[in-house]
Amino acid sequence: MKTYGELCCGCMACINVCPVHAIQRVVDEKGFYSVSVDSEVCINCGKCLSVCPIHYTQEERKPEMHEVQQIYAVQAKDGEKRLKSQSGGAYTLFAKAILEDQGILYGVSFEKNEAVYIRVDEINKLELLKGSKYIQANMGNVIEQVESDLADGRVVLYAGTPCYVEGLLKCLKEKRVRTSNLYTIDLVCHGVPSPGIFKDYLSVLENQYEEDVHSFNFRDKLFGWGDHVCSYKVNGKKFFSRDFVNIFYSSVCLNESCYVCRYSSMHRVSDITIGDYWGIKESYPDMDDNLGTSLVILNTEKGKELFECIKDKIVYQRTPASDCKQRNLMSPTEKSEKYDEFWQLYYERGFLKAVQEYCDYKGKEERWASELYESLCAQLEEGKINEVYLYGIGVTMMQILYHIQESNIDIKIIGLLDRNEKYVGRRYFGYEVVREQMLLDSEGSIVICSKSENNTSIILKRLQSKKEYENMKFVCLKSSWNTVEK
Ligand SMILES: Cc1cc2nc3c(=O)[nH]c(=O)nc-3n(C[C@H](O)[C@H](O)[C@H](O)COP(=O)(O)OP(=O)(O)OC[C@H]3O[C@@H](n4cnc5c(N)ncnc54)[C@H](O)[C@@H]3O)c2cc1C
Repeated sequence: MKTYGELCCGCMACINVCPVHAIQRVVDEKGFYSVSVDSEVCINCGKCLSVCPIHYTQEERKPEMHEVQQIYAVQAKDGEKRLKSQSGGAYTLFAKAILEDQGILYGVSFEKNEAVYIRVDEINKLELLKGSKYIQANMGNVIEQVESDLADGRVVLYAGTPCYVEGLLKCLKEKRVRTSNLYTIDLVCHGVPSPGIFKDYLSVLENQYEEDVHSFNFRDKLFGWGDHVCSYKVNGKKFFSRDFVNIFYSSVCLNESCYVCRYSSMHRVSDITIGDYWGIKESYPDMDDNLGTSLVILNTEKGKELFECIKDKIVYQRTPASDCKQRNLMSPTEKSEKYDEFWQLYYERGFLKAVQEYCDYKGKEERWASELYESLCAQLEEGKINEVYLYGIGVTMMQILYHIQESNIDIKIIGLLDRNEKYVGRRYFGYEVVREQMLLDSEGSIVICSKSENNTSIILKRLQSKKEYENMKFVCLKSSWNTVEK
């Protein structure tokens, strides 16, 4: 029997239709959830292939797919909801509408360092589904549960990557389950990184801290929606890092099926497709508040019906397809040229070597932030500074700001400074980012928060050469970044 081995997306539809239980769930050598077929038990009935999303070409699939009907930029009116969701909070509102109708949700929660599907039937558990977990999800046995809920006449909302949605739909069709009560939402999807790589990453962190890592957030909006930064807690303290983001975008450890994804198109498998509405700044500047805007694509009548239920809770704008700039609605993410080299190094020398070489992995950066913070406190104690601008938007700066906020030290921050236009006007921890050139006739000190001595001296020279800063005092913080092996 033909199997799809490396191209398995992990939807587990095949396991659910195999009449002789010849298919087992496995974790493959790259750490992805996959399946293995026992050829001794297999009777070659072909049911597994008939439900396998990977088995069909884009052309073969087209008649079953929905052509996009309406596209919206959406923001939940409730800002709190938006902060906790990955983009504009659209999913949460659809989910609430289903729960209010006594319906059931199936979505992805983060439990024991894994992205796992769960069933949610009460509002206080909806929190678990909020936010994207940027790794492949473990389907567990939810297909069976969806089947049983639909058989009981319950309304069900299933959300996931398009390949998982198709696996579910094909499985239900094969089993002749009525789907009139089923609503589906799929994500615009960049691809799913290996859960095994993610676990390796957490192990490295836990070894470094010699403590468990908690509350991992795959995209902390504290930095604003446009900036992708993860956060986690160790011993109650929060830390920020871009390391897993860099791993995600380096395109060396997405599932093989993602690089040939057949769903990267405007023909969609679900009733509704959601994603980030990139390009909101250019298309609808009035809506651009950097808290997140959802892209909501309605593909079916059911999708439109669900959208009607949330309309009074959102700010929305109908938009043409050309305005929503989403590469993964056009083509799959490209595999990195270094993909094979990455995995070879991973097998031979392990996670850390591979990500340091191919994913711009920095490691425990907050160590330097802590040193910079201590240096700041020392300057305060010596009375060298009082009212300050902090210079240098980045993870290090955010970490310093977090330390300042947690410790309540007596420092007056007038604002944050950067030369990059992109950050100007944004607020972090309540402080506004001001462009270098806008500090005319100001007083106070400028504290340069760069961990690298070299960088610090470049910034210092630039600022000191400007006439308008001649009344200001410059303070350079110190860390051991340049003197220790990173
Ligand atoms: C792996 C991955 C890649 C993505 N790539 C893109 C992209 O390239 N472009 C883009 O615009 N958007 C992408 N998204 C979607 C985006 O992050 C937001 O989920 C989306 O914008 C909806 O935001 P929201 O605030 O409405 O909902 P959210 O609160 O973010 O939640 C949406 C739903 O996503 C489900 N979910 C979370 N993690 C997973 C997972 N690992 N697998 C399956 N379902 C999951 C949750 O159960 C919930 O039902 C991706 C999401 C994931 C999980």
